[in-house]
Amino acid sequence: MSQFLQALPQQVTVFEVGPRDGLQNEAALIPSTAKIAFVNELADAGLKWIEATSFVHPKAVPQLADAGDVMAGIDRRPGVRYPVLVPNERGMERALETGVDAVCVFTAASEEFSQANVRATIDETFERFAPVVALAHAHDIWVRGYVSMAFHCPYEGRIAPEKAVEVSARLLDLGVNEVAISDTVGLATPLDMDAVLALAADQLPVEKLALHLHDTFDLALPNVMLGLEAGITVFDGAAGGLGGCPFAPGAPGNLATEKLVRLLDGLGIETGIDGDKVAAAAERIRAAMQ
Ligand code: MG
Repeated sequence: MSQFLQALPQQVTVFEVGPRDGLQNEAALIPSTAKIAFVNELADAGLKWIEATSFVHPKAVPQLADAGDVMAGIDRRPGVRYPVLVPNERGMERALETGVDAVCVFTAASEEFSQANVRATIDETFERFAPVVALAHAHDIWVRGYVSMAFHCPYEGRIAPEKAVEVSARLLDLGVNEVAISDTVGLATPLDMDAVLALAADQLPVEKLALHLHDTFDLALPNVMLGLEAGITVFDGAAGGLGGCPFAPGAPGNLATEKLVRLLDGLGIETGIDGDKVAAAAERIRAAMQ
């Protein structure tokens, strides 16, 4: 292997978001039993981080109103973490009842998106989830923070890299374990990625960063390559590319986990994941949507 590939990380963690980020964007209501089987099959495929559901208000995301049932129904495999999305203190109380050991909070690098998505300024989102992070710390629960629209926003256009890094730094200051810098609409070009990563590498601990990429214009994998070169070792994927893109109907959504695994396999980077099993699990959950 040449010096170029040798400089890449030897091991990478794939953070599966299909059961949460994927399914929440699917219109057809899916039975809880199918979701539970999906999570278990993803663990069978070798995934060690599976974002299982979301404790948002059931009226906001009816698809995930069964979060408690899903958490009660899944097998909790040793060595596998099942983080859940939590928007506020009430959601955290529900999540704690199910015995979670990892939670995810979310904000954005775009003011206008934050207002449109959760009717709150970026500052207000921090006020909402600060008690969630405090409760997580009190219960020894691992926390991830998402920074949505870190590169481009359907309302604001290109986001200044400084803004994406500033919001990420605020999350780390609050004590989250990991920040997922997110290209929520899949508009980041390699130049955009390079600008954010250069600033992030300068100002943030790279080992605490993850990349959450969408594949709208087939640029997710080139951006993963840049992330690897910058020393990022956590990448998100959704089995089967589930979820679509809420802002671009018909466009691919989250980067497909099996596609990400194919790239990592091809680079000789260890993941422990069977991409074919991931794709098969995605096909089964799609069948449950009919
Ligand atoms: Mg996503």
